[in-house]
Amino acid sequence: MTQRTKNQERIQRFVCPGCSLYCDDNQIVFSKNNEILETYGLCLKGYKKINEINSKNRIKNPLIRKNGVLKEVSLDEALNKVNEIINSSQKPLLYGFINTTCEAQINGIRLAKKINGFIESNASICHGQTYLNVIESGFNSTTLNECINKADVFIFWGSNAAESHPKFLTKTIFSRGKFRITGREIKTLILVDPRKTATYGVAGVRDLYIPLKPGKDLELIQFLKDMILKEKSEVPADGFVGVDKQDLNRLILNLKGSENGIILFGQGVINSNPNGNVIKALIELVDLINETSKRSRFSIIPMTGHNMNGFIQVSLSLLGKMGQIEFSDNQLIESNKDLISKIKDDEFDMSIIVASDPISNLPITLSSKLTRKPIIAIDCFITPTTKLADVILPVAISGIETDGLVYRMDNIPMNLQKIIDPPANLPSDEQILLKIIQKMEE
Ligand code: SF4
Repeated sequence: MTQRTKNQERIQRFVCPGCSLYCDDNQIVFSKNNEILETYGLCLKGYKKINEINSKNRIKNPLIRKNGVLKEVSLDEALNKVNEIINSSQKPLLYGFINTTCEAQINGIRLAKKINGFIESNASICHGQTYLNVIESGFNSTTLNECINKADVFIFWGSNAAESHPKFLTKTIFSRGKFRITGREIKTLILVDPRKTATYGVAGVRDLYIPLKPGKDLELIQFLKDMILKEKSEVPADGFVGVDKQDLNRLILNLKGSENGIILFGQGVINSNPNGNVIKALIELVDLINETSKRSRFSIIPMTGHNMNGFIQVSLSLLGKMGQIEFSDNQLIESNKDLISKIKDDEFDMSIIVASDPISNLPITLSSKLTRKPIIAIDCFITPTTKLADVILPVAISGIETDGLVYRMDNIPMNLQKIIDPPANLPSDEQILLKIIQKMEE
């Protein structure tokens, strides 16, 4: 960024698009020439996000693979190529969409419907399972404001807020909130994790670390439920599932005695227990505490990534479902497939990847299958996926070079505001998806 000088012109508040916390307490100082001089309030992750505008990996021109090599072309030529690939496809697959706005997600679903495709967001391999459980049973959740102002016990279960949502700890555990004259000294941090993550680094003497081995979550949750139901039961002298007696007693005391406790669970829960039962068990544990305890109230918040909740909200409101979205004859059809089975069973013949890098994130057995079919990548940056794509449509950075709606991790809608023009007048994800639809209608 440019050095700050007397050239300073204006200061603007803005919402950081760096993670699903979407912090709105940041400021940017602009020069008279509208260059960013300085930022205030951002964590390191947010600062890196803003600095993406200067990234050397930025893609500024559309590219098409010709004779095995990616060549710069005009947007019109790239869109014609996209049209050609779509027209020769019987089973298009659309994937990604969490690193973008709800407006782009809506156009993604419109495109999937038009081309009779299958569309899923990154939620399908992450917190999608969480919300499938929520649709079935509901959950006692809460907002970030309640976490800031009222919570006194924070249980991070398989989540590492210090790295995934860095300002969460500053906003909640290290703040006083509106209704207290005390702060950190009355707040307890409990970590349930096999690893001592960066979040462990902020734990103090009143906090608690439960070193739970992978795959033992269900046993521990059932044990906690039993202890809550049978008030006089004792923790075995040698502890349970490798956790010692004293720590378990302190955990139970906090579950039964907090004023406003929050369980924040993350990818660790999903990764170590892929069938999702742990999520259901955690929701039930929270319900049980609320039903049985005279004093304690607990809530649960999934620590989702970026605008994952946005895709869930958009697809539920447009289609009444949030996963296994497949169209035939331009109508939504019943599908028992998910992203993994679609790729595994070769039930796709091309893919449109939006703001995502599945070649890096999926297991090699699946990512290699993706590369065997044409890939259309809509992205701002060079990634392993764009490097292997057949067409690359470059776009503006959502929330920095474009406006747009997103949903925060606590499902509160937030408006991202454009702070700077994109290079080369690049379109937004929303606009490029619309251009693809319009090109098909020409
Ligand atoms: S916590 Fe997330 S939203 Fe907040 S400043 Fe950091 S990266 Fe941005």
